[in-house]
This record gives sequence, structure tokens and C-alpha cells, in this order.
Amino acid sequence: MKTYGHFINGEEIISPITFEDLNPYTGEVYALASHGNTDDAKKAIIAARAGFETWSSLPPAERERVMLKVADLLEANVDRLTDIIIDESGSVIIKARTEVLYSASLMRAAAGEARRLYGDTFPNDKPHRLSMVIREPLGVVAAISPFNAPLSLLVKMISFALGAGNAVVAKPSEETPVIAVELAKILHEAEFPSGTFNVVTGFGAEVGPALVESSDVNGIAFTGSTSTGINIAQSAVKTMKRMQMELGGKNPLVVLKDVDIEEAAEIAAVGAFFHGGQICMSSARIIVEKEIARTFAEALAKKAKSLQLGDLRNPQTAYGPVINARALEKVKRHVNEARSAGAEILAGGDVHHGLIYQPTVIWEPPRTCSAWCEETFGPVTAVVAADDLDEAIAIANESDYGLSAGVLTNDMVRGMTAARKIRCGAVHVGMHSFQSDSMAPVGGFGMSGFGRSGGHYSVEHFTELKWISLELGKTPRPF
Ligand code: NAD
Repeated sequence: MKTYGHFINGEEIISPITFEDLNPYTGEVYALASHGNTDDAKKAIIAARAGFETWSSLPPAERERVMLKVADLLEANVDRLTDIIIDESGSVIIKARTEVLYSASLMRAAAGEARRLYGDTFPNDKPHRLSMVIREPLGVVAAISPFNAPLSLLVKMISFALGAGNAVVAKPSEETPVIAVELAKILHEAEFPSGTFNVVTGFGAEVGPALVESSDVNGIAFTGSTSTGINIAQSAVKTMKRMQMELGGKNPLVVLKDVDIEEAAEIAAVGAFFHGGQICMSSARIIVEKEIARTFAEALAKKAKSLQLGDLRNPQTAYGPVINARALEKVKRHVNEARSAGAEILAGGDVHHGLIYQPTVIWEPPRTCSAWCEETFGPVTAVVAADDLDEAIAIANESDYGLSAGVLTNDMVRGMTAARKIRCGAVHVGMHSFQSDSMAPVGGFGMSGFGRSGGHYSVEHFTELKWISLELGKTPRPF
């Protein structure tokens, strides 16, 4: 079994204290990871401050060159990295492989952004004054990432931060430290200057505050749960850090009565059960026009019952385990509360084996129960009927969250009406709620967070604007 270190200033540094990184499918220890503390975080921040000076002064073409090399190396290592994601996070092979390739695509998109840090000029009321606006990187960005897509979500944050000229200290989830350290090694191999990208592994409460409270950290990119995000934001505001908060969701999928029901059920099943529902944008609340609601729910239940679970390396396997026993307990609680409240369980409703929960379809739970209101982050979805489009939209908007939505219809007028009225950071018409694209602005309304990541939207986030003016004549002075 391998022991992994932090990655600070171009070097892997193994801590005297390690923690066990478990394989959630087998329950065995996959690796030992370094148990980071405040001192490790401080060392990484010092390295990143120096790394920032070097990195930010490189010409964009040079930043682009090394970032493109990272993309090539990610692709060259796709099989090895896929294996790590499978074993460390319980992903099935298709999800793990897609994550690696998507990470390469993100790196390429961000590499191009290094050349597009456009500024502006604007006409000034003072006739002899030339005004311009330039973009400057923030400085050091702390990237705090979750377990569920442990490579691509980290890459999504760091690629655009780096592309904009920042240095980064990353704190990956304690459930998935290895893939982050492997990513750091790839950046190093691609000739990123030492200190530009650092990783400190360990637990949020022990490493996180040192990053969040430091006045040498200028920005926070956080992807994770809403409760952790609130905690971090309350602390980061004390040093006025720029913050990007990509938080939880309870995402609606609206199904209108004109759809092909079988096909709609197939699409919904992917939205609900991909990676066992451990996706922030999972279709967890399905709202269906009443004429087809029950037939749709039964078709979805039939599809759910047909999903193959188990061997993560079999391309036919739909999904694997939830990440840990605590996550499984939450899934069980949500389903049991819906059952106790009188909801019918049309499929699933129990553990399959180990940490794998059956794909579960709940019919008409009370819209106050946890399975409908709270993020389950497991393979559970619920279906309710709505009288018409207006009611479907109203139900979709009942949530405090507002991350992503899907609308299934062939009627583009009704589809666009829903897209305009649903309060979410993204609405996908003709698709389920879980979509990604390296150039899209991903982020939420309400309790799903603030800020957007992807393409030039990220770059706006990871840069400061500076107004520079130049006096070219003699502007009259007041005294
Ligand atoms: P989490 O909030 O438990 O942990 C996320 C990260 O925060 C981890 O690295 C953790 O160690 C760290 N952390 C915990 N406490 C901290 C503290 N006090 N200070 C600093 N860092 C701290 O989330 P998770 O369970 O890893 O991930 C699942 C959650 O992430 C879900 O809610 C999901 O919806 C959300 N998520 C959101 C998006 C999005 O794009 N909006 C994407 C993926 C996941």
C-alpha cells in the first residue's frame, strides 16, 4: 500500500501522521494519506506566494504551453488515473474515465483563457484623461474540493484560477486525497513552476481554517455542501476574500405531458442515478404533468429495477457505493421518513449490498419530507404530479436551492417558458438536470451558492479589475 504526501513547492512531503483512505466498494484501505495541519497549510501558502510571483509574470503563451501539456499528460495517463478514481471514490469506470477526459478539456479551455485577460478603455468626461481597465490575478487562491468528482471538480476550479495567473493551494476532500496529489505531480511534470500549485491533504476542520483565515490567501474557490460553504464564507469575509461558492442542490426535472414516456423515463434515470445520485445536479425531484405522472413513475421504476449494480470495472454497471457509512445512513433516513409519511416506494428502498443502495423511486412523498426538501446525495428520486405547467414551475421553485433543472418536452414554447421561470443557475430543455461543459457558467441561485465557474466566467471571478488613468493634458484643478 502506498503512502502519499502533501505536494508543496514542487515536492511531495509525507507527514509523520497519516490517515486511511478507504476504498468505499471493498471497504479496504486503499492508501495512506498525509494528515495535514495548520503548519502544512502555512507552508503551502508561503510556497504559493512565491509561486504566484513567478507564474503571474510569465507571458500568457508560456502559461498556455504548460497548461496544454497538463491536458496531454492527463490524457496520456487516463487509464492509471481512472483506476485511482474507481478505487478511491467508488466511481464506475465510465464516470471515472469521463472525469479524466473532461479534466483535460477543462485544462485546454483554461489555457486559452490565459491569452484572453482582456481589459477595456472608456471615454472620460475629462477631455485630457485616458482611462483604461486592466485585469490582474487575485494572488493566491485556496481551492477546497468535494469527493464526488474528485478530479474534474478540482481541475475546474484550479485550471481557470491558474489560467488567470493565480497560484493555488488545494485542499481535496479527506475521502479522495490521492487523486489530488497525482494531479499535482502531473502539473509538476508539465513544468509548472514550483509553488504554483500546492496540495495539502487532511480534514476540513484542521486544514481549512488556516487557508480560509489567512490574509495571504486572496480568493476561495469552494465546491461542497451548503453547510460547509456557509461556515467558510462567514470566516473568509473577515479578510474580504473573493469567494466562489458551488454548493448543494435539490434539482427539479419537469416532465410535460407531450413526451415519449419511455424515453423520458430513460433520461430521468440517468439524471437521478448517475454516480448513485452523488452529483450536485442530480434530478432528485421529478415533477410530472398529472395526465402522465403515474405511468411515467412506473416506467422510471421499471428502469430503476433493471439497473446493474456491482463490479465498478464492468462498463454495464450503473453505479457503485455511496462514499461512506454516514452517507448511507442519510440515504436510509430520507427513504424511511418518506415511507413513514405514507409515500409509496415504487422501486428500491433498501441497501443492495455494502455501501450500495438500490435505485429508489418514491411516489408522491409529502413535499415537506426530507427526501423532497433536503439533499440526499444518493440514488433516490421522487415523483410528484402537477396540474399543469404553472403548477410544475411553482413546485420546482419551492426549494431553497437553485442549482440546475431539466425540462422534458418537445414543445419549445412551453420548454422555454419553464426555462425562464425556474429559478436555477441552469435549465436544460430536452435533458435531465445534470450537464457539464468547460465553457458554461456553472453555479447556483439561493442556497446553491454564488459565483460561476467555467470559461471566461471563471476568469472574471479569479481576477481583480483595476482602473488606470493617464493625464495627457492640463485638467483644471479645484485649488
Ligand atoms: P463537504 O462540504 O463535506 O466537503 C467539501 C470540502 O470542504 C472537503 O474538502 C472538506 O474537507 C472541506 N471542509 C469541510 N469543513 C471545512 C472547514 N471548516 N473549512 C474548510 N474546508 C472544510 O462536501 P462533500 O461531502 O465532500 O461533497 C458533497 C457536497 O458537495 C454536496 O452537497 C454537493 O451538492 C456539493 N457539490 C456541489 C457542486 C456544485 O458545483 N455546486 C459540485 C459537486 C458537489
